Amino acid sequence: MSVACGSGKSEADKAAQARAKASNMAAAASERKAETQIAARVKANELGQIPVIMYHRIIEKPPPGDDRTPAQFRAELERLAKENYVPITAAEYVTGKIGIPAGKHPVVLTFDDSSPSQLTLDGMGNPKPDTAVGILMDVAKKNPGFRPVATFYVIRDLFGMAKPEEQIQVLGWLKDHGFDIGNHTRDHLNLLGKDEKEVEDQIAAGQSLITTLIKTPPVTLALPYGNQPRNKKWAMQGSAGNVKYDYRGVFLAGYTPAPSPYTKDFDPVGIPRIRSKEKVGDCVKFCSAAWLDWLNANPNDRYTSDGNANTVAFPKFKAPFVAAPFANRALPY
Ligand SMILES: [Zn+2]
Repeated sequence: MSVACGSGKSEADKAAQARAKASNMAAAASERKAETQIAARVKANELGQIPVIMYHRIIEKPPPGDDRTPAQFRAELERLAKENYVPITAAEYVTGKIGIPAGKHPVVLTFDDSSPSQLTLDGMGNPKPDTAVGILMDVAKKNPGFRPVATFYVIRDLFGMAKPEEQIQVLGWLKDHGFDIGNHTRDHLNLLGKDEKEVEDQIAAGQSLITTLIKTPPVTLALPYGNQPRNKKWAMQGSAGNVKYDYRGVFLAGYTPAPSPYTKDFDPVGIPRIRSKEKVGDCVKFCSAAWLDWLNANPNDRYTSDGNANTVAFPKFKAPFVAAPFANRALPY
């Protein structure tokens, strides 16, 4: 009978569909099981903390303060490589695009004030070997997998380059080599106590300084002296004339590792950084040497990747801390 025949055919289709669906679900379930096993094996903790290290000048004879010698800078990078850190940029960190291998820990290297000691190009357009970028490229070459990337918070000094053509060369080199350029205001103005217009004018001017040279708007801002304006949000969003800015993260100047961008603790309006320094004075606890020791001693608090940029893997005990926008990517184990 034609009705029965028709309905029989449709039953067969339904059965085939159901089998296909079951098989897809089984494949997805087994893939998820495999991912969970990898995450557990490498003790992935993508809700753990990330060191964002702050550098200033890299010079031979630093005065007391935040500058480092080329040898000190090289030694810190070598330590990071040996301890399984992989650099990511500030833009990657704040947007949650952390694509590093399983078992590795992200670190964000940031350089403030665009000094020539951070990057100077020779006549052929290669970084001079004793600049921060020259040293970073060399350490990366000797340590495969250690990505030579960093974020440069620039001001009008622009690596000591006076001519726009030279400024384009140096910012263009950074952009072409996967480095990230962030805003640090045009004049390095202390935003503490300034009125809204002055804050917005200064940040917008820093933004224009960059976009007139390389056309790529910065994703993040670092506050001069780490000082927040009276209303913290003025640093995130604002405008002056026809220049608008809308950042995904604003960085401070102290004193702790930063939360994972996937946790409820992540606050884009004030992201902490760590000064690069050995354990002396207030750096006994609060600078890079001390915090790297602490992160080594406290693996449950440190970010460890599961190697899959699409999932957020963590021991299931930590589940209540997942930020809502990432809940659909959660991979508890
Ligand atoms: Zn600065």
